[in-house]
Parts: sequence; C-alpha cells; structure tokens
Amino acid sequence: MAISGLDIYKLLPKTNCRECGFATCLAFAMQLAKKAVSLTSCPYLTESSRRALEAAALPPIKLISIGEGETRFEVGNETVMFRHEEKFHRPCGIGFIIDDALSDSEILQRLEKINKLRFERVGQELKVNLVALRQKAQHKRFIEALKLFSGKTNLALALMSDEPAALKEALLFLKRRRPLVYRATADNLAEVSRLAAEFKTPLVVSAADLEELSKLSAELTDMGVADLVLDTGDKPVSQKLWDLTQIRRQALQKSNRSLGYPVLVRVEKDDPYEEAIEAATYIAKYAGIVLVKGIESYEALSLLTLRQNIYTDPQKPLQVEPKLYSVGQVSDKSPVLVTTNFSLSYYTVLGEVEASKIPSYILSVDTEGMSVLTAWAAEKFTPEKISESINKCALKDAVAHKKIIIPGYVAVISGELEDASGWEVTVGPKEAAGLPSFLKKL
Ligand code: SF4
Repeated sequence: MAISGLDIYKLLPKTNCRECGFATCLAFAMQLAKKAVSLTSCPYLTESSRRALEAAALPPIKLISIGEGETRFEVGNETVMFRHEEKFHRPCGIGFIIDDALSDSEILQRLEKINKLRFERVGQELKVNLVALRQKAQHKRFIEALKLFSGKTNLALALMSDEPAALKEALLFLKRRRPLVYRATADNLAEVSRLAAEFKTPLVVSAADLEELSKLSAELTDMGVADLVLDTGDKPVSQKLWDLTQIRRQALQKSNRSLGYPVLVRVEKDDPYEEAIEAATYIAKYAGIVLVKGIESYEALSLLTLRQNIYTDPQKPLQVEPKLYSVGQVSDKSPVLVTTNFSLSYYTVLGEVEASKIPSYILSVDTEGMSVLTAWAAEKFTPEKISESINKCALKDAVAHKKIIIPGYVAVISGELEDASGWEVTVGPKEAAGLPSFLKKL
C-alpha cells in the first residue's frame, strides 16, 4: 500500500521554507506521494524521517529475478490485493518439476516437451518460465541429471535438493545461470544461505508457519541474502490460500517487511485436471511461482491462458490496431466482416474466417478495446463509429460492392447503420463459431 501524502507530511519539517520549490511542505508531500519529486529536494529532513520515507518508498513485494539473459524472468513488485485496484505487474512464473530419479531418456523427453510449451493467443506469445530439477536419488545422480540439461533448454532453472553439498556442486556447474535455489529451512539455514550469498542466487525459504517463515526470512536478510522467495510447504488448498492471502496482505500493509517477497507453490497431483484446478487457484491468488508436475500442453495452455487474463491491465483491454485486415487472397468481391478492436473479438473472428477458407476482410472498429456487446452498450460501436471506420479505412477502395456483415448481437443497429453509412448491412451470426457456415452460404 503506497504511503499517503498526509503520512509523508507528518515526517516533513513543516516550516514551509519553499526551498524544495513548493509553497508548503504539504504541497511537496502530495507531489512526493505521486512520485513526481525526489526526497532529496528537501534539505531539512531529519535522518530518521529520511530513512522512514525511503523504506516506505520500497516496493512492498520485492522484485526477484531468476535466470540470466534470455532465460531470465521476474516476479514480485506487486502493489495491490485486487487487480481492479490497479493491475498485477509481474505474471506468475509457471514451471515444471523433473526428478533426477528418471532415466536419462525420460528426462530429455520431458525437457523437450516442456520447451515446446509455447502458444499464441490474441496476438501474444504465451510461454512457461522454469524447469526445476529435484533430487530424489544420490548426490552424484543429481549432478549427472543436471548435466543433461546443458544446452537443452532456454528456460530458467531451479535446483531442489536438501543436500547443501549437492546444491554447491550444481551451482558450480551452472556458473552464471542464476538458478533459483530450493530451499533454506530452519535446519540448513546457515549452510544454504552461505551458498546463496556466494553464488548470488535467489533462494526459497521454507517454513509451514507464517511466524517462523517471517523469522527465517529476517535472519536471511541479516545474513546478506536479499533475493528471497517464500514457501509454506504442502498444505490443503484452503490453508494454502490463507497463507498466500495473509502474506500478500501483510506485505502490502508493510506491517511485516520480511514477508515482502513472492511466494512459490508446488502442486503435484496424478490427475492433470485436479492439478490444473489447484494451480489455477494459486495463480489467481497470489502465487509468484507455481511448479507443477504435468507437462501436457492442454494443462499448460489452461494455466497460461488464465495467467494472461489475470495479468492484463484491467484499465487497458488487449486491443488490435483498428484497421481493415485482409484474410487470405482477398479480391474486390470478398465479404467484409465488421467487429471491434478487442483482441479476443478480433482473433476469434480471424480464427473462424481462416477456418472457413473464404478470403475476407475484417474491419476492426476502434472501440477502445471493448468487446461487441460492451462497446455497443457503451456507445462505442454505434452506426456513426462504424461509418467513420468505413470511411477512414477507405473500404470503398478495397471492394467493388457496398455490403458489410455485422455481428448478430448488434442486429438492432442494422437499419440505422445502413442509413448512416450508405452500405447494405447483413446481420451475421451471434457467435463467431457460426461464421464458417455463414460465409459458405453467403
Ligand atoms: S524544503 Fe522541506 S521544509 Fe522546506 S517547504 Fe519544502 S518540504 Fe518543507
């Protein structure tokens, strides 16, 4: 939670000396709250006020980088409990666990399958972030298995082992890949923290109880380990959700700085549907990293789609450029479908037009990223706006006919649209799924 202007004001000298360029300390405080000025502009701050204000300016949840170069991804830096208050900033990392007890060929097969978990949806690339190698066998096998990863994946890595010696050898092998080290507990805190400090890697700190977790996190910070990820171990979903919510709440209130880090959750179920449902719950609230066992594309795609929906800015819907798009080998006889510039609407129509194999134009009208019915209700998809788009995109130069097709949901505007545009309006199907058969019959 950001510090308010009034809270800042309480820490200022309140002399209204104007040296900061503002008429009053209160005016300066308000600008500081908006991050429009720097603390250094006031030369009369006491040391304790400066420290308090600097601490208040730190993000409530620390930004943690895992991996290096193209493998790198970041989690944390969240500022709100609820997406509609602002937005969620860093998409939850999605990763997969591979046990070293598998055979070499099984490990390589899993790795290959994980690497291929990339999809395109509404014009964006969706990809997974992390592969975690977990020690189940002897120390020697853990390192052998890790060596199989060499040159075989561009994803960030996590090392899961309870043996500090195995972790050290793995870190030496990985050199600068900056893997996530899993995990420091009350039993191995000193040894594992030394490794994290020496290799400058992010470290997972784990305790079942939040108070204990907070205590360990504070001890690690004192030992110089700054990049932490929290873990509260295996628990039923309701308890895990409670932990995640409490950690987020306390971090945002800055009532407990030692909980101001992203949280990692492991979900390992034999049933991929159960696993996906549980992982989805944590992606929604408030995991920073979710590790799963299942590597099937249908499971990964569900999680990535959910993540994409949650981590878009609710004030800025995903949009495509409003313009005239051609699909296939269009001619001046091709049909023209009108839709909005909301990405999901546009790409759904595009997919169905491609499936129909009938070359067509799609006129994407600027509705500020709203879908058809929302835009119509908000008066952004009106006969006047559509007519304006027809003229702006020079539709008359692209086709020899004067016919357009509008979505079935806005059939009610067809008459007015004909009057406003001078184009003949055909009402298309309500759902884009009806477009292939509609276009074939046209
Ligand atoms: S310089 Fe400091 S003390 Fe002077 S008006 Fe600005 S905030 Fe107040």
